[in-house]
Amino acid sequence: MQWRERLNGCERVLIGLGEEWKLREGQKERKEQVLKAYETLYQWIKNKDYFIITMATDAVIFDTCLGSDRERMICQKKEMDIFPACKDADSEMLARMERVFPQREVPGDTRRQRIVAPCGNETWQQCSKACTKDIWEPGEIPDGICPHCGALLTGNTIEASVYIEEGYLPQWERYTRWLAGTLNQDTVILELGVGFDKPGVVRFPFEKTAYYNQKAFLCRVHRRFPQIPQELMGRAEGFMEDSVEWVNHNGIQ
Ligand SMILES: [Zn+2]
Repeated sequence: MQWRERLNGCERVLIGLGEEWKLREGQKERKEQVLKAYETLYQWIKNKDYFIITMATDAVIFDTCLGSDRERMICQKKEMDIFPACKDADSEMLARMERVFPQREVPGDTRRQRIVAPCGNETWQQCSKACTKDIWEPGEIPDGICPHCGALLTGNTIEASVYIEEGYLPQWERYTRWLAGTLNQDTVILELGVGFDKPGVVRFPFEKTAYYNQKAFLCRVHRRFPQIPQELMGRAEGFMEDSVEWVNHNGIQ
C-alpha cells in the first residue's frame, strides 16, 4: 500500500474524479456512498495543498465540505521561510527566531476555488442555441426560456449541443497555474473512477503529469481500467475496484 504512505507524507495532492462519481436521478443509496466518500477525501487532503478536477456534472461536490466557499485553505507562512539558513539553527536559536518572527496565517483560497469541473455543471443554465455566453444560476430564469432569443435553456455541460465553456474557464486557469507549481514537487495524484469516456480530460493528462514529474506518484482506481502504463512502473499503483467504494473502505485514518 504505497499510496497511503505517499499520501500521508506529501504536501500536494492532485485528484481527478471520473464517471464513477456522477450521480443520476433517483440513486439514493449511491448518493449516500458518494457523500461519505467526499467526506473521507476531505479528511485525507484538508491540510494539504490540493486541486480537484471532476468530470461529474451533478455539482454535488459543491454542497460538501470540499466545496465550501467560506472555509479557506490553510496557508501558513513562516517569516523564517524567507531565511532558509535558519532551519539548520539549534533548537534554542529556533525558539528565539519563532518569537521574533511569529508564524503568520495568510488567507488562502476557499475550498471551492480548488475544484474545477470542465465537463460543466447541470445546475447552471445556458441557451440551448448558444446565442449568448451568459450562464444563469438556479432560479435566475424560472421559465427556462433564453431572455435573448427565446430558445429553451439547457444545462451548462458538454451535453449541450454547443457547450458554453466560460462557466469553468476561470477555474481552469487557476488549475493550470497550480499544476505548473507542482513540477518537481512531491505530489500524489489520485485518479478515481476515470475510464476511457473522454480520457483527454483527466486520464491522459494525469499520466503525462506523472511521467514528467519524477517526484509524483500516481494512484489509479477504477472498476475496470486500473492499468498503469509501463513507463510509470514503480511510481504508480492501480486498484481494480469501484473508486467510491475504494475510498470508503480505506476510510479515514
Ligand atoms: Zn438564446
